Amino acid sequence: MTPAVEFRGVSVRFGQTTALSPLDLTVARGETLAMLGPSGSGKSTALKALAGFVVPSTGRVLLDGEDVTELPPHRRGLGVVVQSYALFPHMRVEANVAFGLKARKTPRAETASRVTEALELVGMGDYARRYPRELSGGQQQRVALARALAIRPRVLLLDEPLSALDAALREDMVAELLRLRAELPDTTLLYVTHDQGEALALADRIAVMRDSKLVELGPSRELYQRPSTEFTASFLGASN
Ligand code: ADP
Ligand code: MG
Repeated sequence: MTPAVEFRGVSVRFGQTTALSPLDLTVARGETLAMLGPSGSGKSTALKALAGFVVPSTGRVLLDGEDVTELPPHRRGLGVVVQSYALFPHMRVEANVAFGLKARKTPRAETASRVTEALELVGMGDYARRYPRELSGGQQQRVALARALAIRPRVLLLDEPLSALDAALREDMVAELLRLRAELPDTTLLYVTHDQGEALALADRIAVMRDSKLVELGPSRELYQRPSTEFTASFLGASN
């Protein structure tokens, strides 16, 4: 079966810095893959290359077998949530969630129903008329997730989406993401985190990154129980 996501020798350099060494990685449709690694290991760069926010120095990125390396971000059909993806403060929740649909010139009636559907998916159906400042951090992050879901992305990219939240909220959100995953079984999830607990809770497979390189890849349980490198062992064992 054609993978949902394919990195073929994708590398990214910024001047003298190698942010991502040639990466080969495929993600199956409906799979949740966590990219786990310390700060500066190249996780976000890999995601940005897939999303089209950075241009690869080498290699190709494919979605459902289609080479999208030259496509602009909004033509790739991806939903993206990052820690710093602040909501627009002057727009109500519903307008924030509708934003990506407006950009895609979705008809008004369909926009309205998709906004409702996305907000309900993240448990925020009652908050459509609120402004971001009237929401907690966790609620704002749910709205950011709804905004990404509203376009019905073929792949959802989450880059440390919970790292701004406190520990209790993070736990709630992990449970929420698990529920979401069950409700959207065809949606492929690429989840970037430095938190091994989140990776183990959410992912089918974990890709461990270190110094811009993919150093280990395998089913979450297997990596946890039988890490094949010292680095993975120490990293998965590290308390956070
Ligand atoms: P991670 O997400 O794992 O923390 P990043 O992918 O953000 O790591 O960064 C990988 C490396 O690339 C780091 O050394 C970082 O400083 C560098 N880097 C990332 N983005 C840029 C940029 N726009 N310009 C220069 N260097 C960058
Ligand atoms: Mg990062």
